[in-house]
Amino acid sequence: MTDDSDFLSSLPRLPLPSLEEMERAREEERGRPPLVTTLPEPDFVPGGIARFHCVLGCGWHHDEAPGLEPMGPVRVPVDFTPEQLSDALSEHAAARAERFRRRVESAIAAHFADAHPNH
Ligand SMILES: [Zn+2]
Repeated sequence: MTDDSDFLSSLPRLPLPSLEEMERAREEERGRPPLVTTLPEPDFVPGGIARFHCVLGCGWHHDEAPGLEPMGPVRVPVDFTPEQLSDALSEHAAARAERFRRRVESAIAAHFADAHPNH
């Protein structure tokens, strides 16, 4: 039987970011607004809702709650470096922004097909 403290002290010490650093990075990522590229500018209504109005002014709108979107796992190698963590968080944010954009675009496209089929 081996002594746990001997086992732990034999492990290499990796320059891992502290839990505080990782949590800070996640908080920054959470606070970053999703990329709005080809989408109309939303109104921000109380409750953290981004409201996308129909550009034709018919009164229709699509609501999104970016802050309530599940984060999902951020995948990094077991022996990740701070750069790999940063890259993984950036990729994760880009993927979330892409899903957000596609969801809003789909909602707008569905509305146009339904209400403004000649546009
Ligand atoms: Zn409309």
